[in-house]
Amino acid sequence: MSVNEPLPGTSDIWEPELSDWVLLENKAREIFSRYAYSELRTPIFERSEVFVRNLGSETDVVQKEMYSFNDRGGRNLTLRPEGTAGVMRAIANRGLNQGEEARVFYFGPMFRGERPAAGRRRQFHQVGVEAVGSDSPWMDAECIAMLTHFLRELGVSGSKVLINSRGLPEDREAVSHALKEYFRPKLPELCEDCQRRLENNVWRMLDCKNPACGQIALGAPKILDLLSETSQDFFKRTCDGLAELGVDYEVAPRMVRGLDYYIHTVFEVTHSGLGAQDALAGGGRYRITLPGDKRCHEGIGFAAGMERLLLARESLGLQSGAKPETDTYIVSLGEAAVAAGLRLAGELRQLGLGGRVKADLSARSMKAQMRSANREGAGIVLILGEDEIARAQVSCRNMRSGEQVLLPRVELHDWLKKQ
Ligand code: AMP
Repeated sequence: MSVNEPLPGTSDIWEPELSDWVLLENKAREIFSRYAYSELRTPIFERSEVFVRNLGSETDVVQKEMYSFNDRGGRNLTLRPEGTAGVMRAIANRGLNQGEEARVFYFGPMFRGERPAAGRRRQFHQVGVEAVGSDSPWMDAECIAMLTHFLRELGVSGSKVLINSRGLPEDREAVSHALKEYFRPKLPELCEDCQRRLENNVWRMLDCKNPACGQIALGAPKILDLLSETSQDFFKRTCDGLAELGVDYEVAPRMVRGLDYYIHTVFEVTHSGLGAQDALAGGGRYRITLPGDKRCHEGIGFAAGMERLLLARESLGLQSGAKPETDTYIVSLGEAAVAAGLRLAGELRQLGLGGRVKADLSARSMKAQMRSANREGAGIVLILGEDEIARAQVSCRNMRSGEQVLLPRVELHDWLKKQ
């Protein structure tokens, strides 16, 4: 690997691809704002305990995937592997009054030490939302509807919404018990991770990626059947809400999602254009105590992988735009003309004339500068030589039509407006 190549699982994002990222961010801003969410930017690194406490010490992310390091003050810090924990810390830091809601959205890079593969990166980007302070199942339905609205606006058709419930903490024991009863006799056929999970985190045995484990998990009891009446009612009301808001969904009875903080609703959106890593977005409802605040808060949120959103768009033929080209190229002939060329470029930029304006600073020959203008796809070339400067004129060439005129400087603005 060359020293200039980005590390495995990371990449440089150039134009024209970058314009797709900007489109995605702008769409997220536009759509989520319509649902009264506001943007929040939190730091890229946090004290490690922020993630361990929120995500749960038994989760894959915390156990195997965190990029953690000690800073010079001896604090153990982690590059954020997801957005929710930092958002919660920020909300706790601000304080949330009883009955008050916080609705935020965010985007940015996340870091997980995973084995890189198509659609699986070590630095990836998420766009996500969190709505904290409402315990209504309508909130879950609206949140999922907002995600499908966002996908629709991005042109990402053909995605599938999968939904399940994890119930309340009080339901956990009964579910864990039933799952252990089911999996225990099958232990010798299961992978090493699952053998460990039986005692530590039996729920995760339902979504093990190992194909043999997956096959066995298909026969496991359905979580929904094991939940209390309260939890089943919450789930039913969420589904009713989704129907009311016109969202198509499928119940995925064994979906648990990786993180421990979820209660009630968990959901995922998949897309067939993504290949093996087919999860476009995932989220759920959670109950947390914010540090320094004894009360419990409920929230619902999701995160979508931005790389995967772009891949899904690509699979549908929604390609990125063209690389932005220089619109107006100023050729300056001789050292004295370079200053005049720069002044002219500055003037056009102040007035917003000529689009993307570039002044050639090289004082090379006319031929060399014209070659560069051509290579950059310039639509307009303005030429300043000694004669033009002395007579307050400028030679203007429209590269598309081939038309060239020698104009008094005062007429340049009008000419540019007509091109
Ligand atoms: P998660 O909370 O792990 O379900 O992540 C939410 C979304 O982020 C997923 O549905 C993916 O779209 C995306 N994502 C998660 N991990 C990665 C990764 N390593 N590389 C690229 N995208 C990812």
